[in-house]
Amino acid sequence: MTRRSLLGLTALPALAADETVSARVQRLQLKHTWTTVMSSSTYRDVLYTTIRRNGLTGRGEGAGIVRYGESAESGVAFVNRIAPELARMDLRHFGKVIDWVLAQSPADWAAKAAVDIAIHDWVAQRRGIPVHALWGLDPQDAPLTTFSIGIDKAEVIRQKVREAEAYPVLKVKVGLANDEEVIEAVRSVTRKPLRVDANEGWKDKDEAVRKINWLEKMGVEFIEQPMPAHMLDEQRYVRQRVHIPIIADEACLRPADIPRLATAFDGVNIKIDKAGGLLQGYRMIQIARSLGLKTMLGCMISSSIAITAAAQLSPLVDYADLDGNLLIGNDPVQGIRVVQGRLTLPAGNGLGLR
Ligand code: MG
Repeated sequence: MTRRSLLGLTALPALAADETVSARVQRLQLKHTWTTVMSSSTYRDVLYTTIRRNGLTGRGEGAGIVRYGESAESGVAFVNRIAPELARMDLRHFGKVIDWVLAQSPADWAAKAAVDIAIHDWVAQRRGIPVHALWGLDPQDAPLTTFSIGIDKAEVIRQKVREAEAYPVLKVKVGLANDEEVIEAVRSVTRKPLRVDANEGWKDKDEAVRKINWLEKMGVEFIEQPMPAHMLDEQRYVRQRVHIPIIADEACLRPADIPRLATAFDGVNIKIDKAGGLLQGYRMIQIARSLGLKTMLGCMISSSIAITAAAQLSPLVDYADLDGNLLIGNDPVQGIRVVQGRLTLPAGNGLGLR
């Protein structure tokens, strides 16, 4: 072994001036104060990444989830740590590069997602195709997307439902003490299909059964994560006593989680920020489908970079809940559009962002 290779100097070719990987925090302002079982806020900080090479810029975004110890700042630190080596990697082998990114930390999933999205955007631009064409998907297969109505007072909920007139399917958050009031407020102004997310709100299995049996009568299409993520036995008990599909969300983070969920749930909600990127999301969709589970793509509150990225996978799934960009007032880019509730992918190369 030569002295140069001992020092690690031989393997790395000189960088061209424009070959960079960068990360920063972006503050997104919310149109409405956002309340779920977990938190309440008026803004959301996310991580933005860029990969610049050969005159092209790939962009990515990730929303770190506090529950898993992630923040926009911790995401910046992760990207800065891997950036020097990543900037030298051959992106023609992007699947190998993304697996390398995934192996660089036991956590940092949203930051890995932001890097993975920027890589997909760059690679597809370089090939002169949209990201969904990397997987051979038909953008005409993109599903309807829901519009989410946050927990609030009945009068505010009715106003939010009226503002969502353009969306044919609504998603409503429940799981607090006023569930009946929330659903009745929505039903007092619309007969549209409703999808309901309890965000682990019911801790007792018989309470969950009672609530879901009531929701069935209120025209609810499916229920997301009624009980805490770890309560899989109770979840199986609930599933045997209700008549609408139950979709895992908090219980489903990454590909390895899915097989054990197959007997407790009817489907899984896949989020790119939790999965660690589009490659991981693609793997999760394929595992879920192979187990006979319904598939759904969800999102965090994000700008159109992350939502457009997730939407590139949406032709593969049964349900989409990709409205995070509609909830913010300072979206810096245009990408995915919703036309009569249907996701409409932009025509441009890469993510197609403008
Ligand atoms: Mg959910």
